[in-house]
Amino acid sequence: MCGITGYIGYRDAYPIIINGLKRLEYRGYDSAGVMLFDGTQINLSKTKGKVSVLEEKVNNEISNKGVIGIGHTRWATHGVPNDVNSHPHISQSGNLVIVHNGIIENYNTLKQELKTRGYTFKSDTDTEVLINLIEEIKTEHNVKLGKAVQIALNQVVGAYAIAVFDKTNPDEIVVARLGSPIAIGVGKDLKEFFIASDASPFIEYTKDAIYLEDEEMAIICQGKEVKVRKIKDDTLVDTDVQELQMNLEQIEKGGYEHFMLKEIYEQPRAIIDTYRGRLLREKGIIKMSGVEDNMGKFLNAERIVIVACGTSWHAALVAEYLFEDFARIPVEVEYASEFRYRNPVLTEKDIVIAISQSGETADTLAAIKLAKERGAFVFGVCNVVGSSIARETHAGAYTHAGPEIGVASTKAFTTQITVLSLMALRLARAKGTMSSSKYRHYLQELELIPQKVESLLKVDDHIKEIAKKYMLSNNCLYLGRGYNFPVALEGALKLKEISYIHAEGYPAAEMKHGPIALIDDRMPVIVIATSKGHYDKVVSNIQEIKSRSGKIIAVVTEGDTIVREIADHVIEVPETEEAFTPLLTTIPLQLLSYHIAVMRNCNVDQPRNLAKSVTVE
Ligand code: GLU
Repeated sequence: MCGITGYIGYRDAYPIIINGLKRLEYRGYDSAGVMLFDGTQINLSKTKGKVSVLEEKVNNEISNKGVIGIGHTRWATHGVPNDVNSHPHISQSGNLVIVHNGIIENYNTLKQELKTRGYTFKSDTDTEVLINLIEEIKTEHNVKLGKAVQIALNQVVGAYAIAVFDKTNPDEIVVARLGSPIAIGVGKDLKEFFIASDASPFIEYTKDAIYLEDEEMAIICQGKEVKVRKIKDDTLVDTDVQELQMNLEQIEKGGYEHFMLKEIYEQPRAIIDTYRGRLLREKGIIKMSGVEDNMGKFLNAERIVIVACGTSWHAALVAEYLFEDFARIPVEVEYASEFRYRNPVLTEKDIVIAISQSGETADTLAAIKLAKERGAFVFGVCNVVGSSIARETHAGAYTHAGPEIGVASTKAFTTQITVLSLMALRLARAKGTMSSSKYRHYLQELELIPQKVESLLKVDDHIKEIAKKYMLSNNCLYLGRGYNFPVALEGALKLKEISYIHAEGYPAAEMKHGPIALIDDRMPVIVIATSKGHYDKVVSNIQEIKSRSGKIIAVVTEGDTIVREIADHVIEVPETEEAFTPLLTTIPLQLLSYHIAVMRNCNVDQPRNLAKSVTVE
């Protein structure tokens, strides 16, 4: 994910672009850049770091004059965050400039082809390949920029939102979209146009906006009406100029009331982004360079120790089941804060996996340091590209969830589980602990998860009704077994964090060893009872709660009839392999906590006493 801005009109473009980038920084913030055309030449400045770093660089380095320009704030996918990989990217001739949000999946094939035609590349990005492909087509076919972009995009596989400028025809900017958003703000009397990933950068200038749909493009030119066309065959599409009703804050939240809700709803897309390019179902393989490059280490590992804190620790527990079940590698899960102050026994045959959304968690970083000192190979799983954990570990995998702003983690959790599932499957295949037919089946099942999450989000209203009934509870118990025991812990944590209701997660069978004493008719108990996960045992646990008048909210597999008879409320999740149920069962628990917190008037996005990334011990 990244943010794109652009301007073409009569005002100074720079302040509009730079302020727009600040508003889009939630979409990506590992590097930023801007291109301005001053009537004669292109002035371009880009840098690793946040938009504020760019601002300083522009002040020191280039003229910021010009009434046309484009800007970008990056969330790296191809190539580490550094100055060279930052956008905008410029074509070989120096005439064409692009900003891009998304991934060009066939960039490598295209790159090799362009190399044979004499192109050289400065960056590691897929984006630089795209701009040179456009240039090559423009020269070869002797066409204008719009046509060249159209032909090029028909050769591209992947996702994109782009804005492209051509110095030899500097009155227009070409934009296109497939899979990543782009909006065009239409100024009064067509005297100016704004381009942005969402409407927040231009809301104070115009309320008229055109949102491109997938597979559409447009050539934006001052004084001319915007004509939207199909990328595929250049046919005209009816242009729908919408009047924006939202204010700035609402736009940044994508129309959702809170970032947390937005992030819950982003999960289908986030999970796809996580497995994109890694889960190659048609080929029947998983490709993860961090694992591939170190396969020897993984195959020789006698043990995996996973260190993490908070929600990431719960993802680690799911991984314990996954790695042991699939790849038959013994796993230990440790709180980073405990691990670092123990005197852990570690050898060179151990692999330590560190998980953290921000990649800055102080205790996890300290645990990594200790593990490295003791000779272990350390693998990081984090979301923020270029973060300390990404730099400090020997290898790793990003979750690509996109920025998570709500303090209570949601999409970071499900994307961590996605990465860990991919790793466990890849290792199972390499170790031969899973048959190839089973492996293929699991790949298929994992690929279907996003659409199942999507369908699950549709039961939100039902969950809201349940939330209404229990919003005044003082305590709450969450139970699950096997793969869903960590989900019970995560469900309880979510409720505690944002609604300040005391909640505890337990393995369902452990209830008898203590928590059962708490159960009475005022105690809601959320039980995860999926059909393939020790179902009969969990049903017995539900009976035990019922006998003590506890209120049962059960998360069950679609079509369940047995639990429905006993429970006070049921929430159905689509069927999948038990190992992947955490990716589904988590969703209703996130929504339940969210609605309860909203009903209790709590500050959902910034709960009291909590910080998004815990960079202190
Ligand atoms: N794939 C491009 C890159 O890595 C764009 C990523 C983004 O959307 O920011 O530079």
